[in-house]
Amino acid sequence: MTSKYQPDTVLTHAGRDPSANHGVVNPPVYHASTILFDTMDDLAKGYAERYAHYTYGRTGTPTSHAFETAVAALEGAHAAVSAPSGLSAVAIALDSFTKAGDHVLVVDAAYGPTRDYCDKVLSRHGVTVEYYDPLIGGDIDGLIRDETRVIFMESPGSLTFEIQDVPAIAAVAKARGVVTMIDNTWATPLFFKPFDHGVDISVHAATKYMVGHADAMMGVVCCATRDLFMAVKSQAHLQGICAGPDDLYLAQRGLRSMAVRLRHHQQSALEVARWLQDRKEVARVLHPALPDDPGHTLWSRDFTGSSGLFSVVLNPYDRKAVNRMVDDMDLFGIGFSWGGYESLIMPQSPERSRTATIWQGEGPLLRLHIGLEDVEDLKRDLAAGFERLGKG
Ligand SMILES: *Cc1c(COP(=O)(O)O)cnc(C)c1O
Repeated sequence: MTSKYQPDTVLTHAGRDPSANHGVVNPPVYHASTILFDTMDDLAKGYAERYAHYTYGRTGTPTSHAFETAVAALEGAHAAVSAPSGLSAVAIALDSFTKAGDHVLVVDAAYGPTRDYCDKVLSRHGVTVEYYDPLIGGDIDGLIRDETRVIFMESPGSLTFEIQDVPAIAAVAKARGVVTMIDNTWATPLFFKPFDHGVDISVHAATKYMVGHADAMMGVVCCATRDLFMAVKSQAHLQGICAGPDDLYLAQRGLRSMAVRLRHHQQSALEVARWLQDRKEVARVLHPALPDDPGHTLWSRDFTGSSGLFSVVLNPYDRKAVNRMVDDMDLFGIGFSWGGYESLIMPQSPERSRTATIWQGEGPLLRLHIGLEDVEDLKRDLAAGFERLGKG
């Protein structure tokens, strides 16, 4: 579905129908398990056109429909399927297209729990998982086997922010009959449009920028065509995947302000990233919107913006020094996830979760999420942290 409206307008209006709801602006929260039918004929019709009607709470309600419709409109998807977390969205996307004996190619820089799912669940179900270099581009052709069913991408990569040549990979996959999926959480549909680059399935941890306030878990799988949607929707149905109504409501509410928030995250993150480049404690800043980043050329070609998450590689410092810096930050919180309104800092070890490539930093890596605080306050907090880092 493509919209005649610009993304900011789609975000404001998609998935809402006030006239069906007494004029109330926001869609109501339907708490539902049982859905009643007037007659047995109605029940039969509901089941014949299974996903076009509400038949049972688990398969969809007006509340899930509101969120899914809004995300699908923004992403330009045929339709979307919500899930109770980003990881469950990744899992049902992979499960929808794989069976025992199949081979899947997964980017080496994938989100850690995505790798865990592949290694600990897909492989137990007889699927062979092979990791590939994020920079492989069209050369991925050489890794495709007769049994290859799926190529999974994530761009930029988790923790290290490599940009993949998504159109090159999607073109090769299409020629070889392989389904392509991307984890598009970092860019959101506002800054990267997977379907314009030939990708089949786009997965989001809506927990991050869609929810946007660090107060709900949510996932969503966007599907380019009806066939792909039916495969994912029936997989979710078979597995009993359904998100809770209050969290679906929070996710669709978060969407309404996502564009405004993201522009602020983008601007502040770039400002902090540039400032970090000039610090003597910093060896490298991993942020694809910076002109000297190795991924910058591909990022400029394919993306229309950058979000608030990036990493810095420090010069060599020991763990105690890093902990001195991180433990006493005033504004940056230590915690998993990101995409909320608040800033976060987290030491990470990407070298531990690579198998196809070797990742080596000059020193420890810190992942930063730049929130909506005043950017000068954030820089002062980081500067004070660097003072602690250097005192040993
Ligand atoms: C957080 C995250 C996920 C998982 O989302 P949850 O909602 O935490 O399950 C998936 N992919 C990426 C890139 C993430 O950052």
